[in-house]
Amino acid sequence: MPYPLHDLLDDVLAGHRLTEEEAVRLLSTRDRDVWTIAAAADELREAKVGDRVTYVRNQNIHVTNVCKNLCGFCGFGRRADDPEAFCDDIATVREKARTAMARRVTEICLLSGVHPDYTLDSYVDLISCVREAAPGVDIHTASPDEIAWAAERSGVSTVAVIERLREAGLGTLQGTAAEILVDEVRRVICPRKCDTATWARVIREAHGMGIRSTATIMYGSYEGEADRARHLAILRDIQDETGGFTELVPLSFIHQKTPLYRAGQAPPGATGREDILMVAVARLFLDNFDHIQVSWGKVGTKLTEMALLAGADDLGGTMFCDDVSVDAGGEGADYLDPAEMQRIAADLGRTLRQRTTTYEMV
Ligand code: SF4
Repeated sequence: MPYPLHDLLDDVLAGHRLTEEEAVRLLSTRDRDVWTIAAAADELREAKVGDRVTYVRNQNIHVTNVCKNLCGFCGFGRRADDPEAFCDDIATVREKARTAMARRVTEICLLSGVHPDYTLDSYVDLISCVREAAPGVDIHTASPDEIAWAAERSGVSTVAVIERLREAGLGTLQGTAAEILVDEVRRVICPRKCDTATWARVIREAHGMGIRSTATIMYGSYEGEADRARHLAILRDIQDETGGFTELVPLSFIHQKTPLYRAGQAPPGATGREDILMVAVARLFLDNFDHIQVSWGKVGTKLTEMALLAGADDLGGTMFCDDVSVDAGGEGADYLDPAEMQRIAADLGRTLRQRTTTYEMV
């Protein structure tokens, strides 16, 4: 006799910590119980962070799309000899950072391919140039995979890499490259990226040094519900130890121009049901996270609004440019005007507030 859903959700609202098996059950829901789960997650969101909907004024800077990894779920990364490959020089990056400053951003995300020739010095030079051009902004960059790559290329430890990047101006770490933290899945979707243990170790190291990070999950490609639950459990364990994650960013797979989809190894992205359940179950499962983001660039603004009724409280950033989503086939994924965010929040009777990367109100 399965535990009745209402009882399980009541228990979660009263403080019960969901098990992985229970998360799998919730993620597998296919009927009107989806709304029941979303409503419980929304209640928990309200109890935890109130009626505030937040966003960060930020800009992505893509330095290069040349990438050693060429992940199956990605439409952005290129080989160095690809006619569409690009790699900005320092002067161009500096100019992009100045443009971001003119747009009054509080955060600049350096979001690029993992260039096979980059060393620790390359990353230091990039961060230093942005720090100089954009004093005061949070430089949000360097995934655990990039840190592990810089360490390997330069023959130093990952802790030494993080320390040098911090000295150069790194503010917060990107919790990207997590994808799905299950090695059997990673071997299919991103076989050249760091493994689960390395990702978790580098994140722990950064948090231990006082550098906070986002956490991400890229879902809707090759993995199943059990893999998603395992991933959430790893994040929750790390958060128990470090408290260093600022939020979870669920990233719905954009499939159109990706090798994995073209090879028939992945479906055409997550369904709307899966998008809503990912947010809702994350809110219910990650009892030690304050914030769950909905990624408007991945799911569109209409589903974004529904996710705000299913446990999400943050709209992420203005971005101004997101070639990673656009190159994979995502339309309208590169800029969301805060006026449109305001319309979404107001439509739900909630208040939009601008935040910093680490959730101080601006
Ligand atoms: S997801 Fe990132 S690491 Fe993978 S191919 Fe794309 S740019 Fe490279």
